[in-house]
Amino acid sequence: MRRSLIIGNWKMNGSQATIVSLVEELLLADVGEDVEVVLCPSSPYLYLLKTQLHGSDIAFAAQDVSEFEVGAYTGEASASMLLDLGCRYSLVGHSERRELFAESDEQVARKALRLCSAGLTPVVCVGESLSEREAGDAERVIAQQLAPFLEGDGADVLKKSVIAYEPVWAIGTGQTATPDQAQAMHAFIRGTIAVVSPELARDMRIIYGGSMKPGNAGELLSMPDIDGGLVGGASLKAKDFLAIIDTVKYLVK
Ligand code: PEP
Repeated sequence: MRRSLIIGNWKMNGSQATIVSLVEELLLADVGEDVEVVLCPSSPYLYLLKTQLHGSDIAFAAQDVSEFEVGAYTGEASASMLLDLGCRYSLVGHSERRELFAESDEQVARKALRLCSAGLTPVVCVGESLSEREAGDAERVIAQQLAPFLEGDGADVLKKSVIAYEPVWAIGTGQTATPDQAQAMHAFIRGTIAVVSPELARDMRIIYGGSMKPGNAGELLSMPDIDGGLVGGASLKAKDFLAIIDTVKYLVK
């Protein structure tokens, strides 16, 4: 049984004041144990979340991590620092990192390896662009992004990871993949993982991201291979984020 996972990715948004009031609202709700809820603030606010979420069921995580272990890497934060702070997860390979900061598939895999070595769970984001989908290349692109995780150290990392399928054309655009499109890609990803291990494919959590909102969450999250959501814009509004969490709680799959 795969436990549902809902992650809020706040990207580079918020201030101390807005975060305190958003988290206060989230803490008033009972997220329960059926669904795991994780918040990813910008790194300057990780400690604030650690303090505010102390004793609650909601976890906090990083949006990215350094591929290096320690040393003269100005501006970077290492996996062991994230662990030291109390993070259990970090995103890696978000499409904004891949696109805007030219992160390669191999670099994403190195970051995920650092996280695993430190004892954290990587949330490995994969997704195709609109032109790639329109050219019929979506599965090839996803397979290429997963390739470093299918052998050697990568396969060990995969065992401890969560995969987030986020079609780039659906991120922040208001255009969501249809439940069938998302399910088809999740099934493809699970099938790809099954080549490494059928048991791993069965147990692996694969979450969907791309304009998930209260209005479309039910249909997406009820798909058999969709185990949760990576939520951007809607996670900045307590009411919307809680509505998505509620959707998961009352789903019968
Ligand atoms: C994201 O940033 O990972 C994301 C899915 O954003 P949005 O929900 O705003 O599309």
